[in-house]
Amino acid sequence: MPVAYVNGQVIDGRGKAFTGYVIVDQDKIAEVGQGAPPALAESIVRKDLTAKSILPGLIDCHVHLRSDGLADPRAQQAGDTDAVALLRSARNARRTLECGVTTIRDCGSRGGIDFALRTASQQGLCPTPRLVLSGLIVCMTGGHGWQLGHEADGPDAVRRAARTQIKLGADNVKLIASGGILSPGSEIGAPQFTAEEMRAAVEEAHAAGKISCAHAHGATAIKNAVKAGVDSVEHGYLLDDEGIELMLQRGTYLVATSAAVRNVVKHGTGAGVRPDVVRKAQSAIDQHIASFKKAHKAGVKLAMGTDTGVPYTQHGNNLDEVVYLVEMGLTPMEALSVTTIHAAKLLKMDDRIGSLEAGKLADFVIVDGDPLKDISMLQDKSRILTVAVGGQVMVEREAAKR
Ligand SMILES: [Zn+2]
Repeated sequence: MPVAYVNGQVIDGRGKAFTGYVIVDQDKIAEVGQGAPPALAESIVRKDLTAKSILPGLIDCHVHLRSDGLADPRAQQAGDTDAVALLRSARNARRTLECGVTTIRDCGSRGGIDFALRTASQQGLCPTPRLVLSGLIVCMTGGHGWQLGHEADGPDAVRRAARTQIKLGADNVKLIASGGILSPGSEIGAPQFTAEEMRAAVEEAHAAGKISCAHAHGATAIKNAVKAGVDSVEHGYLLDDEGIELMLQRGTYLVATSAAVRNVVKHGTGAGVRPDVVRKAQSAIDQHIASFKKAHKAGVKLAMGTDTGVPYTQHGNNLDEVVYLVEMGLTPMEALSVTTIHAAKLLKMDDRIGSLEAGKLADFVIVDGDPLKDISMLQDKSRILTVAVGGQVMVEREAAKR
């Protein structure tokens, strides 16, 4: 039976907000409009959204479900059996839904547990957001993240690695273009895969109708990844002007994961984060913020991503990133578009999700109040009232009296 959500603020994901209605019929959005809905059949259930807002389901383009975001994620990864990691991933997927995120791209797992989670979710064993999965990350021998990696060297081997992950079920081929904050012995400015190596993987991803992203911090690594044709640069903390220019030319998305670097710096060694990790994050944070602001001003495409699972960036707090985007110069409306329609475009899912439009899947969030007036309200889970994926209500909370 259709449900009409009426009298609420509709934030449509495409930059518009108005008082209006959204009618959901089974798994799809049947109608969206301003003002009062047309005469509704008696059978339609009406839900009043006065003083509330309805948004498209939110999208986080960079998470690691198997990792809780403890001070030392590598210790947890090493200690978990695949069975435990699968249960942990299911619990973290549930936490993600509870904060209003209805689609996630997992950027690296191991043991096929991300694919197993998708199967379990499809069979109704556990509720999860929509899952865009990478399987093992693809990196050079000893490259950043090799513990979750398919190591490969040379274009042919990298091509084979990409084909293997796609064969196993990957929707996204995750490449490693530079050293990383969490890997001991590698500096974040150091390039890893060459452009030629990454190009082979990107060709395979695109030929198969999939996408590809690259972890890249250093200016050279970012340019290598963009030249290779990746759909998005992840982190991009040391992005320079030439890199911004190349990203504009190629239409490459930046998934800035500001939460990841901020949380390491904020918690520091006193909270158990390794000294080398803190040192690298401290060395990058100012340049990250400055280069992000430049990229945004220049018009680089942005999509929201957190790197949830790294130290103190924890599942369920994904929407901290939206607040950071606003702190770094986006309007609240822009930040919400980056977390909905732009993210959907990066994931090549914008024909189905990312905006409230007739015919799209009914992924939506109802919040208590107006995030355009105060974006930080999204960090308060008591104000995330309804979360639906494909019309199925996954989370329902009563509005608190205030
Ligand atoms: Zn990551």
